[in-house]
Amino acid sequence: MCSTRLPKLIAFDLDYTLWDLWIDTHVDGPLHRKAQRVNEVLDRNDHPISFYRDVADIFHKIRAHRFADEGDAEDKVVIAVCSRTHAPDLARQCLNLLLVPPPHNSEAETAPPTAAITFFDELEIYPGNAFFDDERRNGEVEKLGVTFIHVPTGLNHKIFEDGLERWQKRRSDS
Ligand SMILES: [Mg+2]
Repeated sequence: MCSTRLPKLIAFDLDYTLWDLWIDTHVDGPLHRKAQRVNEVLDRNDHPISFYRDVADIFHKIRAHRFADEGDAEDKVVIAVCSRTHAPDLARQCLNLLLVPPPHNSEAETAPPTAAITFFDELEIYPGNAFFDDERRNGEVEKLGVTFIHVPTGLNHKIFEDGLERWQKRRSDS
């Protein structure tokens, strides 16, 4: 990763940010996986669900990052999921089955439908965090000090790196 610094918490929307579907309308549970295939889950009708191509790699890189100036317990970046989906249980199951470094290990899970601004407001540790989302309306989180990164066509390496650059610049300007 070319970025040397990362936010303490990086949050991601799900639908059309991490995968190219609406989990609550395009997918019928239960979900299952064929063999041990990574980054592919099938729904009841064998419709495949995968993260966008670069997502697993981006999660691996975030997971590999350590804050040099902190102790063991707090030195990892928290990966959070923030989605308004009406199917949070299905979304959580899907994240579990996709077998990539799991956002569900983070302290912030897929919540019931809620506006992103409510999510961050309730987190109370929002200053200095970053949020990737395909819906521009959620840019209102910037009022809380969160850096909003718009993801127009699915998360990829370039959007991620550009987003982190923006986050760094915003922090150094403030
Ligand atoms: Mg979305």
